Amino acid sequence: VVRVSDMDKWYGNSQVLYNIDLEVAAGETVCLIGPSGSGKSTLLRCINHLEEINTGSVEVLGDLMGYRMHRGRLHELHERDAADQRTRVGMVFQHFNLFPHMTAVENVALAPIKVKKENKAEARAYARELLGRVGLAGKEDHYPSQLSGGQQQRVAIARAMAMRPKVMLFDEPTSALDPELVGEVLAVMKDLALTGGITMVVVTHEMGFAREVADRIVFMDSGRVVEQGPPAQVLDTPRSDRTKAFLSAVL
Ligand code: ATP
Ligand code: MG
Repeated sequence: VVRVSDMDKWYGNSQVLYNIDLEVAAGETVCLIGPSGSGKSTLLRCINHLEEINTGSVEVLGDLMGYRMHRGRLHELHERDAADQRTRVGMVFQHFNLFPHMTAVENVALAPIKVKKENKAEARAYARELLGRVGLAGKEDHYPSQLSGGQQQRVAIARAMAMRPKVMLFDEPTSALDPELVGEVLAVMKDLALTGGITMVVVTHEMGFAREVADRIVFMDSGRVVEQGPPAQVLDTPRSDRTKAFLSAVL
C-alpha cells in the first residue's frame, strides 16, 4: 500500500533522509521509533506528499510520486495530484488544531462536506457515528475548549477517519497530552489497528503500544532506517548497537 524506494530528502543543503526503503502492506500497523531529529516526521510528511523528495520514489495506494533515474537523468513522476492523494490518506499530528469555533461534529464533518461535497446531513450523521466510535458519544456538540486534550485528540482522529482513508499516519499523537490522557487515545488507535482494513504508520515513543499493536517496528537514526522487524525482535533482541542504546534510554 505504501512503498518508499531509495528515497533521499534534503532541506536546503543538509540531507535529512538517506536511502529510505520502507514497505507497508495493506492492513499492516507499523510503528516508527527513533531519537529526536532522526527524521521520523519528515518521512511521514514525505509519505503524505507534504514535502517534496529529492531522489527515489514514494508510492501510495498504487500511485507513484517522486523521482526515478532513467538513462542517467532524473525524471519526475506524478501520477496523481498531491492534494488529491492526501484526501485518501488521513494524518493526525501532535497538535490537533481543531477549529475552535466549530463543535466536534462540525470539525469532523467539515472536510467531507467541503472537499468531497458530501451531503451535509449524511456527513454529520457519519461524524456522529465516528465520534461514538472514539468514545465521545454525548460530546458531539461540544466545542474544543469544552473538551480535554485527550478528547480533542480523539476528535482529530475521527476527523481524519471521516474522509474514509485507506491509510492513516500518526505523528506522536499522544506526546502533547497529560499522562493520564494518553491511554484513552492509544486505546482508540489500538481499536482502529485491530478492527482491520486500515493501514497505519505511527510515530510514537509509547513502547508499550508499539509492542502490543505494531505488526512491525522500524527504528530510525540519523536519517536512516537502522533496523526493522516484529516488536519482540526489535525491542528484545535488537541487532544494532544504536537500537540498543536508544532502547536503554527510553525503556
Ligand atoms: P522528533 O522526535 O523530535 O519529532 P523527528 O525524528 O521527527 O524528531 P524530523 O522532524 O523529521 O525528526 O527532523 C529531521 C531533521 O530535519 C532534523 O535535523 C531537523 O532539524 C531537520 N528539519 C526538520 N524540518 C525541517 C525544515 N522544515 N527545514 C529544515 N530542516 C528541517
Ligand atoms: Mg517528529
